[in-house]
Amino acid sequence: GGFQSMGLSYPVFKAILHKGYKVPTPIQRKTIPLIMDGNDVVGMARTGSGKTAAFLIPMLEKLKAHSAKVGARAIILSPSRELALQTQKVCIELAKYTDLRTCILVGGDSLEDQFVMIANNPDIIIATPGRLLHLIVEMDMDLGTILHRLPASRQTLLFSATLPKTLVDFAKAGLQDPTLIRL
Ligand code: AMP
Repeated sequence: GGFQSMGLSYPVFKAILHKGYKVPTPIQRKTIPLIMDGNDVVGMARTGSGKTAAFLIPMLEKLKAHSAKVGARAIILSPSRELALQTQKVCIELAKYTDLRTCILVGGDSLEDQFVMIANNPDIIIATPGRLLHLIVEMDMDLGTILHRLPASRQTLLFSATLPKTLVDFAKAGLQDPTLIRL
């Protein structure tokens, strides 16, 4: 079970090699095939185990190329500004050989800049929940439209080192019959 046996396209595979990842970490080996198959997944593994790439690799693979028509097709929610920034960095690196566009919507950054970023038609939105909700309220047309375009039969992934009650509740409400991978 190496990256080469996961059916990844060349742009994503090349970016993985460029990052210096030679073999998938255990959480990646278990979750990437499940996500590629369309399952909702709850992935639990300790900090530093490669959770970020575990959801980014199959997400990029599914999005494949920039779409000017449908707007954002993936939203990554991070609990903190720092984690969101870190996730965006890895996302940009892994998306380097695709034309997918990423934008980051976190508290502390200019709302005006974020309106412009949303208008620029990103494929992937990385956000903290607070700022995302704020933007939805402030400009419910644009971002609300994006959210309403999320199909009810979407694929939803939750990756965390721990599963406190709030996340269990979120998983129950937001994920459909998820597979739990716990390492
Ligand atoms: P994370 O748990 O997502 O914060 O990742 C922890 C560290 O492992 C980061 O520095 C990643 O770049 C690195 N990493 C993730 N996946 C792999 C891999 N398959 N091979 C080597 N390093 C990796």
